[in-house]
Amino acid sequence: LFAGRCDFVKGVVAMDGLPAADRMEICFAGRSNVGKSSLINALTGRKALARASNTPGRTQEINFFDLSGALWLVDLPGYGYAEAPVEVVARWQALLKTYLAGRATLRRAYVLIDARHGVKPVDHEIMTLLDGAAVSFQAVLTKSDKIGAAALAKVVERVGEDLKRHPTAFPALIATSSETGAGIPTLRAAVARLLAE
Ligand code: GDP
Repeated sequence: LFAGRCDFVKGVVAMDGLPAADRMEICFAGRSNVGKSSLINALTGRKALARASNTPGRTQEINFFDLSGALWLVDLPGYGYAEAPVEVVARWQALLKTYLAGRATLRRAYVLIDARHGVKPVDHEIMTLLDGAAVSFQAVLTKSDKIGAAALAKVVERVGEDLKRHPTAFPALIATSSETGAGIPTLRAAVARLLAE
């Protein structure tokens, strides 16, 4: 699955631009700067696949990648940028809600959480949207290389507790580092397992 090609297909700003829901789909969500682009690149083994979505609060596109012709890998716009204009946030939330509710092939969301920061109120908001849309999601810790093993164990436990209030959360979380590659094989295996189910 991850040995094949992974091509950027399109970025959409509205529901009518979505590619056909003709295969399994997974999506990645996270606060701006959580390390989402880096993780998608590490996951797919590409250097610069996820387009620099690095102008916080500005990039509003939902980006679709074709992973080996087998599934749609969807990069949702980063959220939680404090200075994003209110109307931008509102438009984002509306698009996200419509996307989550209207994509029958969406199998799982991965909600990225910075290992140094844990689950923030905006993360809970997104998780609540996922609960409401009945989209099962798994939390993925990013930048695990930035903290020590003991601190990581603590954050894993705390995030696990935080997830308990979300009925659609998958109980196990995956700690990753795009820098060292830690956890990337585990995440790949989790995605591959979805396809095999
Ligand atoms: P995005 O806005 O969520 O797409 O985040 P990026 O992937 O652009 O990463 C934001 C910043 O965090 C960049 O400076 C990355 O180099 C850095 N970063 C991302 N992932 C990691 C990681 O696993 N470890 C470390 N140390 N830095 C990371």
